Amino acid sequence: MADATIIDGKAFAAGLRARVADGVAALKASHGVTPGLAVVLVGEDAASQVYVRSKERALVELGMNSFDHHEPADMAESDLLALIDRLNADPAVHGILVQLPLPRHIDTQKVLARIVPEKDADGFHVVNAGLLATGQPGAIVPCTPLGSLLLIRDTLGRDLKGKRALVLGRSNIVGKPMAQLLLQADCTVTMAHSRTADLPAECRRADILVAAVGRPEMVRGDWIKPGATVIDVGINRVPAVGINRVAAAEPGKTRLVGDVAFDEAVKVAGAITPVPGGVGPMTIACLMLNTLAAACRAAGAPVPE
Ligand code: NDP
Repeated sequence: MADATIIDGKAFAAGLRARVADGVAALKASHGVTPGLAVVLVGEDAASQVYVRSKERALVELGMNSFDHHEPADMAESDLLALIDRLNADPAVHGILVQLPLPRHIDTQKVLARIVPEKDADGFHVVNAGLLATGQPGAIVPCTPLGSLLLIRDTLGRDLKGKRALVLGRSNIVGKPMAQLLLQADCTVTMAHSRTADLPAECRRADILVAAVGRPEMVRGDWIKPGATVIDVGINRVPAVGINRVAAAEPGKTRLVGDVAFDEAVKVAGAITPVPGGVGPMTIACLMLNTLAAACRAAGAPVPE
């Protein structure tokens, strides 16, 4: 059997970003509105700083306003809530993103709940989760599952009806919304997690397998149905030589791997996303899309698809 098609998330995301840039220019021309996203980072977490910088860079590249709020790690919860209130009230701010994880002394759910649902660019607010779960229009959908769905549709076509989908992982930010999206697309959806019995057998039934567990290379090649579409959401940093290779790792050097053992899976799957360069670039592109959509709704302009 020929190797799987490699799903080029980087190229697809570049195309999506170009479409968002066109939408931003059109909204400026038609309504005089520049979409703006407020990015709130509390503390010095190194990974969060990298993510936040790339989000801020993308906003500027696409012609949007980036309102950056980099706050100290000891910021009081009440001060963070007051900042959210100010951003909620600011008409130039169409989306608000609070970078997670927050320092331990801050109640994450309380902070996310404070963002008005219309400005919840990440789609984590319970109102948006509820709109998605009940299949109502206007839900802001979390960026990673939205990006994953766009890649699945680009690979298999818009019509996914009747396909068996398995979502591995049930987090509120990836697994659950991913399952909701696939359900809305008329797939037959199974959700698997750490208590699932005979996980390999569950996976082998899936025409579409989305892995979002955060366990390096957990999904093996023989867990995959021949010809399946495999979306690897996982981002795991491991010693440079890799966890499945015999040679000793070079001290200090690391590389990124997904939740799927790519070298094995590529021989079995029909199509597969690489890590990096698969789902990752789609997440930021979809954040840009969500911000543009929020600005369009606020301005009463048509919302881009
Ligand atoms: P969480 O840790 O919140 O959730 C992980 C899920 O995986 C849980 O539901 C857990 O089950 C399940 N799980 C863990 N271990 C096993 C196991 N051995 N067998 C079966 N299921 C298991 O992670 P996230 O959803 O936030 O993220 C998942 C991965 O996706 C991570 O690698 C993360 O870095 C990556 N990610 C990538 C993004 C991107 O832009 N590409 C964006 C967001 C995340 P249970 O509920 O039973 O504990």
